[in-house]
Amino acid sequence: MQLRIPGPTPLPEEVLQAMARQMVNHRGPEFAEMIRESTAILKEMFQTKGDVLILTGSGTGGMEAAVVNSLSPGDKVLSVANGVFGERFADIAETFGAEVSRLGFEWGQAVDPDAVRAALSQDTTIKAVLVTHNETSTGVTNDMASIGATIREFDKLLVVDAISGLGAIDLPIDAWGCDIVVTGSQKGWMAPPGLAMVSVGERGWEAHAQAKMPRFYWDLARAKKYLDDRGQTPWTPGLTTIYGLHAGLKLLQQEGFGNIIARHARVGAKAREGVKSLGLSLFADEKHASNTVTAVKVPDGVDVKKLRGVLRDEFDTVLAGGQQSLEGKIFRIGHLGFVTEADMDAVIGALKAALPKAGFKG
Ligand SMILES: *Cc1c(COP(=O)(O)O)cnc(C)c1O
Repeated sequence: MQLRIPGPTPLPEEVLQAMARQMVNHRGPEFAEMIRESTAILKEMFQTKGDVLILTGSGTGGMEAAVVNSLSPGDKVLSVANGVFGERFADIAETFGAEVSRLGFEWGQAVDPDAVRAALSQDTTIKAVLVTHNETSTGVTNDMASIGATIREFDKLLVVDAISGLGAIDLPIDAWGCDIVVTGSQKGWMAPPGLAMVSVGERGWEAHAQAKMPRFYWDLARAKKYLDDRGQTPWTPGLTTIYGLHAGLKLLQQEGFGNIIARHARVGAKAREGVKSLGLSLFADEKHASNTVTAVKVPDGVDVKKLRGVLRDEFDTVLAGGQQSLEGKIFRIGHLGFVTEADMDAVIGALKAALPKAGFKG
């Protein structure tokens, strides 16, 4: 089957096998070795000298952890959003009492760093900026190098949702000034859903020391202490999922960071070229099109529910629909993690055959 949604993603055989392992004591030496080794590989992939903490919870849990560990109720926060997940980040901050001002961009377009600069110039009381690295709902990758540099000019805390980008798209988080960064196991990491990985740099820990939002399960200082002192997590971790993440990370390490980034660039280009060759249009501004997910406009006359149904039932190919206001207007091809150019050829081939059955006259 071609499961080509932007997470969960298919898993290599080695990862599936690793998850068939018997339980171990999560307070014992086997687990300590596994979490330390996994964390070391994650730090390489995050390109950070800061801490990376593995939390049991989905990506959204990691976003909540990032917020509650860095902010206090009443803090002014600038939310920079160009899609569903950017809005979610703002909603989380608001839920915990931050005073959020929302800087929105048209969905399908990238965040404009100059507009971020203008917003920060206008309101000097802003403490932190929330940004989505790779907006999965629209297939756009934001220019984090420029956005990070802009936020550094104003010396604000930069909190990044890189859930569907990190590990697949180059994001040197220390070099680009990202203070707290979140990713999720089921996106680029060749691992099942259930874990969030959150990095915290020096400035992130400074913010943590001041942050008064309520937190218990998500307390990152406690997670760091358990990891550093004992090679453990404060609470019972999703052990089987950690077996899977560990196996996925070892495969990624063998492939090599540069090769992983290049593979996603090739696969992303193939998805975009393939879609256009069928007479379809990309939803995202192509200059900022993502290498992990491609959003495609539903052409006139095509019933996208039918299209996805035919793909699933007749071609064993599962694609994602649009979210919220984009439902019925776009569909999305996920191409992250365990994916090759041959997989993309297969998806484009299936699309070509399925489109006429869903009313496409192109
Ligand atoms: C998938 C995703 C999330 C949500 O992650 P869950 O694991 O579903 O909680 C958040 N942000 C982005 C950019 C994502 O791609």
